[in-house]
Amino acid sequence: MCDTLRVRWTVTPKTAPQPWIACGGCGGFRAFRSSDKIRLNANGRRLDAWLIYKCLACDKTWNRPLFERQNVRDIDPAVLHALQSNDPEWIRTESFNIEALKRKTERIDEFPEFDLVREVLRETAGWTRMEIELAVPLPVGIRLDRLLASGLEMSRTRLQALHEKGLLRAHPDRAGLLRRRIRTGVEVMVDLSAVPDRELSWGPLATGSPR
Ligand SMILES: [Zn+2]
Repeated sequence: MCDTLRVRWTVTPKTAPQPWIACGGCGGFRAFRSSDKIRLNANGRRLDAWLIYKCLACDKTWNRPLFERQNVRDIDPAVLHALQSNDPEWIRTESFNIEALKRKTERIDEFPEFDLVREVLRETAGWTRMEIELAVPLPVGIRLDRLLASGLEMSRTRLQALHEKGLLRAHPDRAGLLRRRIRTGVEVMVDLSAVPDRELSWGPLATGSPR
């Protein structure tokens, strides 16, 4: 709609999840952090690949299997190239593979700190509505209300009040949406027609442009 300021917020977590594993070094049940390094072992056509983690207490390594005795021909060439070149982007994405971690341990620490990049998709003079579409390329344990409170510099109570008045909505519109984890495809719509200074107060925070 032509009365709308539309922005995209891309949210990326800063720290990869940390699995808790029985450590072979210090003997305790410990949190392990990704070293962002891959270990490969080729045996004929068979390939093993691990992502290496380190115990936070003693630095002992734990190797999380990515492939075990996989025929090289069955591995996507792009993945093979990423493994062989230690591609930092690919490794970072894999270090956020929470489903794979859940198969190894029941306890995983996730971290709420994130980076937020704001882009203007459409801006019309005199806009009265704001739409924020979320892009969340890596899984991140952040609730929608926490993201909005941080990005828009307002309290979660105020956001909740806007939601209860029907002025803040989200799509898909599910129960308890403000408390849900953010993910790609979620859109937030805010009706600001009753806020006279919206272009000065809300605009810069939504778009990330300096005031
Ligand atoms: Zn240890």
